[in-house]
Amino acid sequence: MSTIFSKIIAREIPATIVYEDDLCLGFRDVNPQAPQHVLFIPKKSIRSMAEVEKEDAQLIGHILLKAAAWAKSEGLDESGYRLVINTNRDGGQTVFHLHVHLLAGRPLLWPPG
Ligand code: 5GP
Repeated sequence: MSTIFSKIIAREIPATIVYEDDLCLGFRDVNPQAPQHVLFIPKKSIRSMAEVEKEDAQLIGHILLKAAAWAKSEGLDESGYRLVINTNRDGGQTVFHLHVHLLAGRPLLWPPG
């Protein structure tokens, strides 16, 4: 199913892209919840973590590693950051193309709302 994120991958709608390789894309969230709020997504269309298959293990690992590498390249590793994958209704997922939120630049509260 086509989502707003597949349109960003296809460059059909604009986004501020901060990272790209063959497997994934990182771009700034249009409605940032922290001074740094970037979404890392697989280019492969996967609806949510609830639909991830065993064959996707390497892809998911790749995305997490690239998110961490980007945070480090921005000097965010020492102060810290949060990676979040909202999943389905109770998880607060609104776009059904798997994405990892990277939030940083301020102390983040716990537990989340
Ligand atoms: P979710 O609630 O599904 O975990 O997160 C979806 C995120 O996508 C939200 O933080 C929302 O602000 C962001 N978002 C929705 N539409 C767009 C868009 O067109 N461009 C960008 N860059 N972010 C979007």
